[in-house]
Amino acid sequence: MPEHVDLLVRGGLTITVDPERRVFRRGYLAVKDGRIVAVGRDADCDLTADETIDASERVVLPGFISAHSHLIGGYVRGVGADRFVNVGGSAAAMISTRLRQAMDEAACYAGARLAILEMQKSGVTTFADSQPALAGKEEMLDGTLHAITESGARCLFTRASQNRTDFLDPRYHDSIDRALEELDRLTARWSSDRIEIGAEAQALHRVEEDLLKALAGWSRARGVHFAMHISYSREAAEHAVERFGRPLLLLLDDWGVLDSRFLGFHPVWLSGEEIAALARRGAGVAYCPVDNMLIASGVAPLGALLEAGVRLGLGIDQPNDSHNFFELMKVSLLVQRVHHLDPSFGSPELAIELGTLGGARALHRETEIGSLEVGKAADFILLDTRRPALNPPTGRLSNIVLAASPAEVESVYVAGEAIVRGGRHLRWDEEEVVLEANRMMVQVAARAELGDEVAPFTRWPVW
Ligand SMILES: [Zn+2]
Repeated sequence: MPEHVDLLVRGGLTITVDPERRVFRRGYLAVKDGRIVAVGRDADCDLTADETIDASERVVLPGFISAHSHLIGGYVRGVGADRFVNVGGSAAAMISTRLRQAMDEAACYAGARLAILEMQKSGVTTFADSQPALAGKEEMLDGTLHAITESGARCLFTRASQNRTDFLDPRYHDSIDRALEELDRLTARWSSDRIEIGAEAQALHRVEEDLLKALAGWSRARGVHFAMHISYSREAAEHAVERFGRPLLLLLDDWGVLDSRFLGFHPVWLSGEEIAALARRGAGVAYCPVDNMLIASGVAPLGALLEAGVRLGLGIDQPNDSHNFFELMKVSLLVQRVHHLDPSFGSPELAIELGTLGGARALHRETEIGSLEVGKAADFILLDTRRPALNPPTGRLSNIVLAASPAEVESVYVAGEAIVRGGRHLRWDEEEVVLEANRMMVQVAARAELGDEVAPFTRWPVW
């Protein structure tokens, strides 16, 4: 071990989520070249560093990992999110859909910055994001990826394909050639040590079999992820049986696409056999409880997924008007408790584990991120323990899950680099990000010819 390191974080309540789940009341974390080189009791630290942070009034945690989001959806929050369209319906007329279609590269960039800013300030260091591609407007994805790259976050970005649906405008329909060409182009332009470009068959009821298999084949050949939205509603689950005579995940297993590069988004309606297949194949799953509740899709079988050992993380998702990861951890437990009428279901430790190491396992990156362990990337956050929500300290771990909010996030580090410090984003001017997003939205609404319909401020009379 080196005697001199780049960064030392000393004296904080250090929650490692390592294999023994060690917590140091007064711990230390040493970082060199973007990696953790030591972690332990502060009393045992005899290292020197270029920079030393006094964390005696901080909690030190691994950075949070959101296993699913739609940044493009975050931009149209507040419009139409209370209307969800299922398998057979069409979303083409929805205000949020019309807005999305009126977006361009600049609007995607502005909207993604707004959503990422909110996410990073709530402690997220890695996220998976899914975006559909509109024919003739592929550069919209470049706008989103430009913002992701600038943010410094780690990201698995999947380009979502569909070609058999009336759900959205037919301009969303992909051909196999276009999908694979675009995936190659996005990979060449944006993939990096922090960004992975993956393929996505948006959902079974929205793709033909040959497109799904071509996308899975492209991913396999490149050793990157293949993602799908899976069984998020009863209708979506029934569709697989009606069309192919097999439950969705068993069908995907038959087709050889359910493997350790598969990531499934917010499943709710799963059989025991399907859960066993997910676990057996090492597939990752994003549990998105806030979205599940918002669109009333059901309660995910969290207990059964955990018992089977499925690689399970938490996802912010859209519709979910918030990018607050604390809210997500809290709701991940509470919805299960009320569903099972069992106040002992889960624990704050489980929620923290799902939000860190669980997300890393879902993204098949647990050797790289998800805990504070020697050799892993130095992705961590500091919470300010002087804030009211984290006190009294007797229940500090449960306070993190049940009481804390992004207001307690003091610093966010990715690969040893401070992205947020003192609660402020260091790579972006926060005011400028907000103003630009709002300015761009006026243009998008004008292009969508929505005028005043765009964001009904309230259903109440306005004076
Ligand atoms: Zn989703």
